[in-house]
Amino acid sequence: NADTAMYTAKEAGRSNYKFFSEEMLSEVTIRTEMEADLRKALERGEFRLYYQPCIRMSDGKVIGMEALIRWFHQKKGLISPAEFIPIAEETGLIKQIGRWVLEEACRQSRTWQEQGPYGIPIAVNVSKIQLEDEDFVTDLASLLEVAGIDPRYLQIEITESCIIKSIEVSVEKLREIRKMGIHILLDDFGTGYSSLYYLQNLPIDVVKIDKSFVDSIAVKARNTLIIDDIISIAHKSEMTVIAEGVETEDQFNYLMDEDCDAMQGYYRCKPLPREEVEKWISHYLKGNL
Ligand code: C2E
Ligand code: MG
Ligand code: MG
Ligand code: MG
Repeated sequence: NADTAMYTAKEAGRSNYKFFSEEMLSEVTIRTEMEADLRKALERGEFRLYYQPCIRMSDGKVIGMEALIRWFHQKKGLISPAEFIPIAEETGLIKQIGRWVLEEACRQSRTWQEQGPYGIPIAVNVSKIQLEDEDFVTDLASLLEVAGIDPRYLQIEITESCIIKSIEVSVEKLREIRKMGIHILLDDFGTGYSSLYYLQNLPIDVVKIDKSFVDSIAVKARNTLIIDDIISIAHKSEMTVIAEGVETEDQFNYLMDEDCDAMQGYYRCKPLPREEVEKWISHYLKGNL
């Protein structure tokens, strides 16, 4: 009997039990609340995409933009994707949210192509749950058609965790996506289970070196050595390398010396809303940076 059990536990360690149960209760409440709010967020139009430029090291050219979702909760304000994406994945809501992200990125890409000089690819983060969906590839194709954009203006970012579950199935899907002309970026590389050997055999175009490796540059840790290996193996397999989360001039120079192709990070530009990234670009193109 639950009541008896509770009573006994209370008697045994009064304050401990109470504290524990209340904490659990509030965690569950917060989660349930967030789930319910997440369901309403799409209809309420609370999501926005921010954009972070990706810059080629050799000549400073902006070669892409990464779309990063933001949730502006009507009461709680800005909620970061690190907080709500895992819940969206567990509840399956990521399918609808992910679809909205793709649609919005395609709309933006089209607008930028029409306005010029922003005819640059937008990279969209795709969850493993989206990739697992049987219809993902056909959905992508129809999205491009409806938006009327060239496939080279849409890129997708996946992580190693997207591939681990069923290598054959994911590799086959990735091949189909590439055949459509969409480039595939492997995000957060180095944080998962895959080895450098494995990297060579994946149907991907770009490897993004995780920020944790970039951070190690400053302290000259052993991790730093791995960066050269990633870059040389990626180049041998004709992949492009982007470094994530570059914050300092030292990191930038190190990556330049190591022949890294491109970078993203606060050192050049943080993720910004559409209007602000447009302003940033026009200043940047005028050489005002
Ligand atoms: P990610 O795709 O690896 O994105 C890079 C993260 O690093 C972003 O965090 C970005 O704001 C941050 N960042 C960029 N440059 C710097 C820097 O110089 N210093 C520091 N400290 N951080 C930097 P954000 O926007 O909070 O996104 C976190 C993660 O959430 C993303 O990691 C991605 O995995 C996920 N995410 C974001 N948007 C989406 C989305 O639309 N769909 C899905 N499925 N996941 C998304
Ligand atoms: Mg990413
Ligand atoms: Mg990343
Ligand atoms: Mg990362």
